[in-house]
Amino acid sequence: MGLIVQKFGGTSVADADRIRNVARIITETYRRGHQVVAVLSAQGKTTDELITQAAQINPKASKREMDALLATGEQVSCALCAMAIEALGCPVVSLTGWQAGVQTDAQNGNARIRKVDTERIQKELDKKSIVIVTGFQGVNKFGDITTLGRGGSDTSAVALAAALHADLCQIYTDVDGVFTADPRTVSGAKLLEEITYDEMLELATLGAQVLHNRSVELAKHYNVNLEVLSSFTGDPGTQVKEVVRRMESSHVSGIAVDKDSSRIALVGLKDEPGIAFKIFSMLAKRGINVDIILQSIGRDDTKDISFTVEKGDLDAVKSVLEENRDSFHFDHMDINDNVAKVSIVGAGMINNPGVAAKMFEALYNANINIHMISTSEIKVSVLVDLQEADRAVQSIHDMFFSREEDD
Ligand code: ADP
Ligand code: ASP
Ligand code: MG
Repeated sequence: MGLIVQKFGGTSVADADRIRNVARIITETYRRGHQVVAVLSAQGKTTDELITQAAQINPKASKREMDALLATGEQVSCALCAMAIEALGCPVVSLTGWQAGVQTDAQNGNARIRKVDTERIQKELDKKSIVIVTGFQGVNKFGDITTLGRGGSDTSAVALAAALHADLCQIYTDVDGVFTADPRTVSGAKLLEEITYDEMLELATLGAQVLHNRSVELAKHYNVNLEVLSSFTGDPGTQVKEVVRRMESSHVSGIAVDKDSSRIALVGLKDEPGIAFKIFSMLAKRGINVDIILQSIGRDDTKDISFTVEKGDLDAVKSVLEENRDSFHFDHMDINDNVAKVSIVGAGMINNPGVAAKMFEALYNANINIHMISTSEIKVSVLVDLQEADRAVQSIHDMFFSREEDD
């Protein structure tokens, strides 16, 4: 017996039957003697539809009003789920983010959780109620609704699990757990029994949508017992933890793809000290996240610097660079938003120098050109043409997780 936080994503609550299925999972857990706090996403594609509706009214709507609108999606699914649980005869209460004490900063659209005041939830649990909480939302210090960024319900669940000192946080989704690559697009993707927080954080940050990266960051920080599993099968899924049992032979845990990258090349920059500092400090001041950076060898007193940013930041980057063109003296700017970042992740690769070469060999065999490379202790990322991205992932996956390697 213990306290379990269970999170259910959009597909898992998409219609009446699925809500009833979720209600069944929650009540079965409750009837086994556990206290249950369930965190729900909006139904199916509701959040996308609300964004489309807003754009029809005012494409430049304020972030505050966008949050007021988007938060309604989770309220609908939670109230419906509470009704389904009532019908199954269990005591239940649904709470919005602010009723549940989820306090955030004031950054509408991408708010960070500052604190969870658990008093109300605790009171309901003490009354032996199941508590259903809206994911993805909180309240700022002015009493206004905020949302945590797309996919943020995972982060709500882990934050609640940490604040309530839950014994377990289960993330129920529409696949069986965390795979070696997206099982919907990569054939032969394998379910991982376990993965470390660090590897999962890299995978999530590098494009594996199965968990919101901030949820993994929180889970690691507060040592939350995290499990990813399917709401459809009830089979055991993937444990996300600090240390995992691992065969020495597996250096790579997973492959991720991020199709939201674009590359900017500044060609013909002056080859003198301070240029990189000027460029990247100006971008940082505008809050623009720069990812892979590549600098060419200087030639004829000039050099080139290329870097990647998220597509959504491209216009801001262009205007910062044009506005400051005089202080960098570049010849021209070349922008390519037709690229994708493909990454391999694995804690075991640090001691195995051949891992990156094996990835490049897979791309060579598939005749895919690499535009940029970036490495860290636990990942290697390459930039390739967007239209080659899926083939690149499949080729790399076949190279590292082929049938022969299993045997
Ligand atoms: P939810 O609505 O439950 O939050 P998401 O759509 O956010 O679900 O995340 C689940 C999806 O993540 C899966 O349907 C799958 O296509 C995708 N995905 C991407 N990479 C992986 C991976 N390595 N393992 C499992 N799923 C992945
Ligand atoms: N409903 C929100 C979204 O679609 C949050 C979530 O599902 O995690 O992004
Ligand atoms: Mg999600």
